[in-house]
Amino acid sequence: MSNLDRAPVPSVCGGRGFVVAEPVRELLSPRHVKLGESTEVRRLLPNLGRRMIGAWAFVDHYGPDDIADEPGMQVPPHPHIGLQTVSWLHEGEVLHRDSTGSRQTIGPRQLGLMTSGRAISHSEESPRPHARHLHGAQLWVALPDEHRHTDPKFEYHPDLPTVTATGLTATVLLGSLDGSVSPGTTYTPIVGADLALRRGTEARLPLEPDFEYGVLAMSGEVHVDGVPVLPGSMLYLGCGRSELPLRAESDAGFMLLGGEPFAEELIMWWNFVGRTQAEIEQAREDWMKGSRFGEVKGYDGLPLPAPELSTVPLKPRGWVR
Ligand code: MN
Repeated sequence: MSNLDRAPVPSVCGGRGFVVAEPVRELLSPRHVKLGESTEVRRLLPNLGRRMIGAWAFVDHYGPDDIADEPGMQVPPHPHIGLQTVSWLHEGEVLHRDSTGSRQTIGPRQLGLMTSGRAISHSEESPRPHARHLHGAQLWVALPDEHRHTDPKFEYHPDLPTVTATGLTATVLLGSLDGSVSPGTTYTPIVGADLALRRGTEARLPLEPDFEYGVLAMSGEVHVDGVPVLPGSMLYLGCGRSELPLRAESDAGFMLLGGEPFAEELIMWWNFVGRTQAEIEQAREDWMKGSRFGEVKGYDGLPLPAPELSTVPLKPRGWVR
């Protein structure tokens, strides 16, 4: 998905100054953002008090929406630099097309992983016909400096490894959990796992003490380290944990996101992750004049124009808590 915000505010992220070194329980409220006509998403990252969790730099949760009589998701071709996008569904499907020639329908608990590298463009839409309900998350992973100019590519992994225990199924979408390793390409030490817990289940998830973590609740009611986390909100957990106590008050679905704290400072604006304002301006200009980002074939509609970019220089201080 794209950041369709027509007046995006630049956001300065990363750097170890933002990271909480010890375990914390910090509840993040979503910001409600309208995407086009019919879709509203809950944005958890970047958040007023928290920019990143490891290399995870952007988290939107959407649905469950009844789209039986709606077009559903309709995100026209738009560009990305400096990141990976993760499409993750609990219900419904999304048809992905990109400038490397990919055309792939992604279903529930299948991984659509797009590495933009230096430049890519893509579209995302609900196929026709489509399932009645659409429920998922759109996530971005920032690429480290040494890999951010890599070639663009798209990976589709329909069969991901799972970790199971009584009442618990964890699907590993990125990195590893309890010895199970995702086939998705990663560029920093990171983990992304989807968890389904049956009502009444108590579990302890093994964690890496050097990682920082957060939990995004998607359905049901889960208590994370004793804190109830309701769908559409996120609990930031800090670093320094070797396990995470979970309890499901009802059948619950949620995501565990974590990683080694992202040491580089970066600038996010619209669909771009860069290091300098000049780089962001150049990417915007290249997109608007139709160069560098290739072409998305087959999407029924015009590409998305970039919003205006303020010429006021970005000031990192003041954006951080
Ligand atoms: Mn996108």
